[in-house]
Amino acid sequence: MELRFPYNYHTHSTYCDGHDSLETMAAAACEMGMKGLGFTGHLYDRRAAYWSMSEEGVLQYKKDIAALKEQYRGRMEILCGCEADLWTTDDLSGYELVIASVHCFKEGDTFTMVDQKPQDLFDLADRLAGGDMYQLARLFYEMEASIPQKFKKVDIIGHLDYLTKFNKANALLDETDPRYIRAYNDALDALMPLDSVFEVNVSSFYRKRLDRFYPSDAILRAIFERGGRITITGDCHETSNLCLAYDPAIDLVKSIGFKSAVIFTENGPKEVGI
Ligand SMILES: [Zn+2]
Ligand SMILES: [Zn+2]
Repeated sequence: MELRFPYNYHTHSTYCDGHDSLETMAAAACEMGMKGLGFTGHLYDRRAAYWSMSEEGVLQYKKDIAALKEQYRGRMEILCGCEADLWTTDDLSGYELVIASVHCFKEGDTFTMVDQKPQDLFDLADRLAGGDMYQLARLFYEMEASIPQKFKKVDIIGHLDYLTKFNKANALLDETDPRYIRAYNDALDALMPLDSVFEVNVSSFYRKRLDRFYPSDAILRAIFERGGRITITGDCHETSNLCLAYDPAIDLVKSIGFKSAVIFTENGPKEVGI
């Protein structure tokens, strides 16, 4: 069956926390008819990062991708990118594609990830926000809003509402609460001048964490109303994730009003109809 959006610009490998090698991911992508594949290994603060690429790893990663680019040239366009956490201490030069993502709160030299277990969020709210989850959400979106100060050029804003990973059935907070809505809208206002593309990340859906994508339908609507652009990605950590669960995401964004999604090429981003 033909893929409706044969592209993915959020792909991990064994150089960070992925399960398949670059070679295996590229072969599977080409085999299934994909036209564009962006590798985006994790860059993070190495003091805390078991899931980040190592310093030596980054050099080899870039070499391996350069070879794969040539191997697949004419059949599938491969880009060498990275997923830079807000707290990364790495150099972002030499990448064709940069995703900026917030994965954790930083307290001094201590990092607490938002995606490990719900109790971590409650503990964070206690420590940083007087037990108020809406205030913690505000702090999270303030980190998102600080992306333009930290990075000069960002191609993609990754999983904008990652804080909600454990919010099925409003376990953490009510996403229709005005305090929450204000917090993400303020972040969107700060991010728009960066002219980055917002990611519709379907991993929440195929991993059955949530019944929707990152970010939520409401945030996607807010992005659309601001004239923001989107791309659809699988945050793929293994070959079986490639282009998985794209159809419901495409149907959703079309129903919101998006007519196109962005693909990335060696000559820059391009909009394609969806
Ligand atoms: Zn991420
Ligand atoms: Zn990722």
